[in-house]
Amino acid sequence: QLASLVNEAALLTTRKNSPTISMEILEAAKDKVLMGAERRSLIITDREKRITACHEAGHALVAWMLPGADPVHKVTIIPRGRALGLTMQLPEEERNSHDRTFLFNNLCTLLGGRIAEEIVFNQMTTGAGNDIERVSDIARRMVCEWGMSETIGPLTFRASNPLSNQPGQIISEQTAVLIDVEVKKLVQSAYDRARGLLEEHRALLDAITDALIERETLSRADIQAIIATNERK
Ligand code: ZN
Repeated sequence: QLASLVNEAALLTTRKNSPTISMEILEAAKDKVLMGAERRSLIITDREKRITACHEAGHALVAWMLPGADPVHKVTIIPRGRALGLTMQLPEEERNSHDRTFLFNNLCTLLGGRIAEEIVFNQMTTGAGNDIERVSDIARRMVCEWGMSETIGPLTFRASNPLSNQPGQIISEQTAVLIDVEVKKLVQSAYDRARGLLEEHRALLDAITDALIERETLSRADIQAIIATNERK
């Protein structure tokens, strides 16, 4: 991965006729390797741009406000791959396992995009489809694989996998219902937490949205500056 990152950076450097590989170019190469090439030719209406900016601002602000969540590294509304925008968090240190708080924060951050759209535009778009898929996946695994539901306790429930010969567990209907209830409860409490944060910091949500529309990409320092300016008001 590092080899292809540096290789990409070298290509970008050549294209720019620059004698050395700078940190800035390494950052651009990392984005390309991790998230796909920029799609500047994609035609986006002003309204779509505004909704995307608001969505990403929602992710970023929730991540920023949650103690213990990975720091926000960068937010962008430049389309890449299949995504119209992206909020990137970077862990402060290498992690080999995650605790319940970290996973819960993840759920909140993922939901932040959709909730921001709801608060500002009072409607939902398909843009949050991938976030919601990830939320469902993480919440289900917290309950079924990692024993993180107090009601169900430390039990594993494996659904049958049609691709492997391993039979799934036989789960009673009662347990299946309980799992659904627990997964929904978990997602709902993450939703409430994220919604509360975004409503509380609505002025900041708007300020980050506007800055994204104007500048397309914001670094951690940029967001820090926006928050500082807002606090002084
Ligand atoms: Zn999103």
